[in-house]
Amino acid sequence: MQIRGRFAPTPSGRMHLGNLLAALLAWLDVRSTGGELVLRIEDLDTQRTSRGLAGQLMDDLRWLGLEWDEGGLKPEYMQSYRTMYYEEAFHILEQQGLIYPCYCSRTERMASTAPHRGDGAVVYSGKCSHLTAEEQAELERRGRHPAWRVRCPDLIVALEDGNCGPYAENLAHDCGDFIVRRSDGVFAYQLAVVVDDALMRVSHVVRGRDLLYSAPRQTWLHEVLGYTPPEFFHVPLLLAPDGRRLAKRDHDMDMGVLRERYTPESLTGLLAFYAGLLDRPQSVQAKELIPLFSWAKVPKNDVVVGSP
Ligand code: GLU
Repeated sequence: MQIRGRFAPTPSGRMHLGNLLAALLAWLDVRSTGGELVLRIEDLDTQRTSRGLAGQLMDDLRWLGLEWDEGGLKPEYMQSYRTMYYEEAFHILEQQGLIYPCYCSRTERMASTAPHRGDGAVVYSGKCSHLTAEEQAELERRGRHPAWRVRCPDLIVALEDGNCGPYAENLAHDCGDFIVRRSDGVFAYQLAVVVDDALMRVSHVVRGRDLLYSAPRQTWLHEVLGYTPPEFFHVPLLLAPDGRRLAKRDHDMDMGVLRERYTPESLTGLLAFYAGLLDRPQSVQAKELIPLFSWAKVPKNDVVVGSP
């Protein structure tokens, strides 16, 4: 079967080196097998994202020679236009009795006594899952708008990550009931990403290792909704010399600055070096990396980068 990969950026700022590494590896994974690449714009949060930033991101990918086969600024590939599909999936979960309203404020959630997960997120205590209909009605009367959570089973979900190897979580203990729709009505990333990957027939998900913790709950959601889960490939995060993770707010590492300092070939060479495909950074075109690409060469752990 032909591989369908995707790159699914959130257009909330300029891409940084870490986003580019994920984009390059998603592109190589597909191009080395004659597959197809979808570019999905994850603009669920219309307050934090913009069409202009999405356009700039596409220009940055083209500048690097990372062309996609489908997607971009077309409503079918933009999450802000796909609400009807998320509604449908939400409804299926509701019919299975898996959804409940959660009235907890952020402070109440953070005060939860449950342990913190590896990614720093709090495991929800499940407080609102026990509310009676009267208690819910009372909270509504007081003007509280609920978010919506999905009830996680006491089940170990194990997966074989194509880059990091085996990874497993007990959903109830390690993840906890998670939000699939926010109190302002916006669907949450976890639901949207599963629906989109399924409906866009994505077979390979290549993305940063910070999302490895999301893979078990996404695998489970795929199954509950009757889809086949994709294979996951989580790629190393790039760390600044002081150990902090690169983020969009670190403008020193973003595409605005990188495009002034590098040519597309020299920047691709640097990324290929971090990806384990070259012994040292040297100018190269993305397409010249296709025969060199293999997941066996890609580091499993985070990579510390020098100043660009
Ligand atoms: N939209 C997410 C981001 O830009 C990536 C989501 C994913 O690849 O599953 O970080």
